[in-house]
Amino acid sequence: MSERYIAPLATVIGRSHPPRVVSEEVVERDGAAVDAATPARSPSARSRGAPGGYARPLTVTRDGPAAKDSVLGRYGDERLLEPGTTTWLRPLPDEEQSVCVEAVTACLASGKRVVVLVPEVNPVPATARAVLEAFGDRAVAFLGGEPRERYRTWLQIQAGRFDVVVGTRPAVFSPLEDLGLVWISREVHPGHREDRSPYYHVREVAMARARLEEAACVLASLSPSVETAVQVDADAIRTARAARRLERETAPLVETAAPEAEDRSPRLTALLKRARTAALIVSRRGYGIARVCRSCSEPAACAVCRGPIVVERGKPVCRVCGSNGVCANCGSNSFGVERGGTERVAEWAARTAPGPVHVESSGQQPSPLMLGVAVGTAAAVKDVGPLRLDLVGILDADRALGRAGVHAGEQALATWMEAAAWAGPRSDGGRVLVHTRSPAHQAIQALVRWEPLPFLLAQAKGRAEAGFVPGNAVFRVAGSRALDESLTAAGAASVLATGVEGGTLCLVAVPPKALARFREAILRLAGQGEVTRVEAEPQL
Ligand SMILES: [Zn+2]
Ligand SMILES: [Zn+2]
Repeated sequence: MSERYIAPLATVIGRSHPPRVVSEEVVERDGAAVDAATPARSPSARSRGAPGGYARPLTVTRDGPAAKDSVLGRYGDERLLEPGTTTWLRPLPDEEQSVCVEAVTACLASGKRVVVLVPEVNPVPATARAVLEAFGDRAVAFLGGEPRERYRTWLQIQAGRFDVVVGTRPAVFSPLEDLGLVWISREVHPGHREDRSPYYHVREVAMARARLEEAACVLASLSPSVETAVQVDADAIRTARAARRLERETAPLVETAAPEAEDRSPRLTALLKRARTAALIVSRRGYGIARVCRSCSEPAACAVCRGPIVVERGKPVCRVCGSNGVCANCGSNSFGVERGGTERVAEWAARTAPGPVHVESSGQQPSPLMLGVAVGTAAAVKDVGPLRLDLVGILDADRALGRAGVHAGEQALATWMEAAAWAGPRSDGGRVLVHTRSPAHQAIQALVRWEPLPFLLAQAKGRAEAGFVPGNAVFRVAGSRALDESLTAAGAASVLATGVEGGTLCLVAVPPKALARFREAILRLAGQGEVTRVEAEPQL
């Protein structure tokens, strides 16, 4: 990690475990720190292949025990756990939780241990819940919590108390011996990337750990990241998918319509009128965007930071700094507003849909598990387990695709697929409606055809043409005026330089082969004061 992300080794080690809470430690006579409350299992009982503790029968599918009728069989169960391999697994929409539980079961049966990684804590993702419930006290949740509790759990993991750890990013470092499987749920989710130094990505750390410890790594997603898609295409990552026939049968029915004002359409109205349950996804929160000041007619901008002003819960606020929205020119808080966003859609949906409407706004998150209509942004699309909504609406697909950032496309498609799966298979009567003016766009076609790879490979091509080949390491480096030349000389394949006050900010791509040399050069340049800051894999 220190090499890959050009971070000091001390920082990497410091981030690989929770902060120490000394009072949680009990030093035994032999000097080993163990958990105070629970005696550790003797190491001999934990040795590889020991049968002890694996006798509890597991009923993990609706149809009975895992041994018969296993869902794992659909995904090539024997290859999935092969040591040192990474596999992209595309679950059928209803099988995300059960296939994970079965893979964990199979791994434990071989006497090895498992880490299951989920991207968020709130609410606890259905995959995490399913694993924790299936394995009872052999599994532990490392999901948020107080520092004392986290450190205590960490000591218990280290003492060999658990065979399965379920957690967010930091759990990828779980001190588990005999690791057999690292499972990453929704690997494209931005929550899998650490946004403090050393800025690691869970996918990369998990793949490296699996290689070093001869474990298997499974990246589970309906639609993977561009990085994963590229490696799948090059056969560097294996693929585990159900038969095409099954994928088609379980895919939702997706139709497109052109949006009209405020992201509505006659088709949406017709579908919403008879929807008892629905999820409507919009890319903007709030009630609308302030366009112009009503007092002085200047374009609306925040008086504090010049950022855009949005209307949320009836009040103008700055989207960037959160200040009360007042005109930067005259101080007025009365604006001409372009209506649109979760709150405006919810207001309209309440008059149209037969049931109640729940809306995402600051501090509130609707759940598609509630009866009625949930209106939210991509942030509301979470792992909630199999659902059968009458309607899933993607109301401003074009705006979501047009967002800035190299990951916008892959994340939009992954979000849409996760939300679309809530409509259930086409035979169940649920509908997915996508508003778009470009129904032939590859991302829209990926959703309609329920096949993400062609779009993701096209995204990879676009990135490569811009100088950022997927698989190359990307850094944002700040430093002196001539920094771009130094970085090119250090082995960067591509350098985008921007002049900033007193120096240069560079976005660089470095091929894996050149990384060691590049790192040495960066450390040397930092020593000379030419480099002041390095951020790995910035959110672009
Ligand atoms: Zn502001
Ligand atoms: Zn004004």
